[in-house]
Amino acid sequence: MVAENYRMVDKKVQEACARAGRDRNEVTLIAVSKTKPVAMIQEAMAAGANVFGENKVQELCDKYELLPKDLHWHLIGHLQRNKVKYIIGKVDLIHSVDSLRLAEEISKEAVKKETEENILIEVNVAEEESKFGVSVADTEELVRQIAVLPGIHIQGLMTIAPYVENPEQNRPVFRALKKLAVDIKMKNIDNVHMDVLSMGMTGDYEVAVEEGATMVRVGTGIFGERDYSI
Ligand SMILES: *Cc1c(COP(=O)(O)O)cnc(C)c1O
Repeated sequence: MVAENYRMVDKKVQEACARAGRDRNEVTLIAVSKTKPVAMIQEAMAAGANVFGENKVQELCDKYELLPKDLHWHLIGHLQRNKVKYIIGKVDLIHSVDSLRLAEEISKEAVKKETEENILIEVNVAEEESKFGVSVADTEELVRQIAVLPGIHIQGLMTIAPYVENPEQNRPVFRALKKLAVDIKMKNIDNVHMDVLSMGMTGDYEVAVEEGATMVRVGTGIFGERDYSI
């Protein structure tokens, strides 16, 4: 089931790329495996998945230990500063940096471990009260502050779009994130890349790809509904 779902989502990413005149290689499909067992991750691996997204540090570390070391792990959920030390060196990319204090902690730990960490700035494009992320208006300032820190590299932007019935409703959100990335890229800030756009989840990833996503984060569409009661 999981392998079949993964192939289906992959195909839809491919089709969205074709509609937008984009190369399939521009888009990374992140299989969001939070709350799901290692056995299901292995099923996805059998279908070709090798990039997995988790939103909890402990769960990511547990799975990291149990699975082959050639997989790629992304931390996509809110990150507390006191947990940063556990993931530096394990994750390829932290999608959810939205404050200077968090970035400083990542920088400090990366320097201590003599490594470099790639991050995205999480932008609350839709300005939803309940969401983490910096506002569009404050993003460039935060990027400039983080850019000068050692051991940390901004690769682009991430957003969590609102929950909507019709994915078309999120098209303006994705467009706004893309525009923000283009605007910041034009400033040519040292140590800042704006090539990664992490946007689109199960309900709207095809629209996100059409609007320029380079990473889509798909959980339910691959692994099925999550059960938080267990
Ligand atoms: C859970 C989660 C996803 C995946 O959501 P689905 O709707 O199940 O695809 C994507 N991004 C983030 C940040 C998440 O926490």
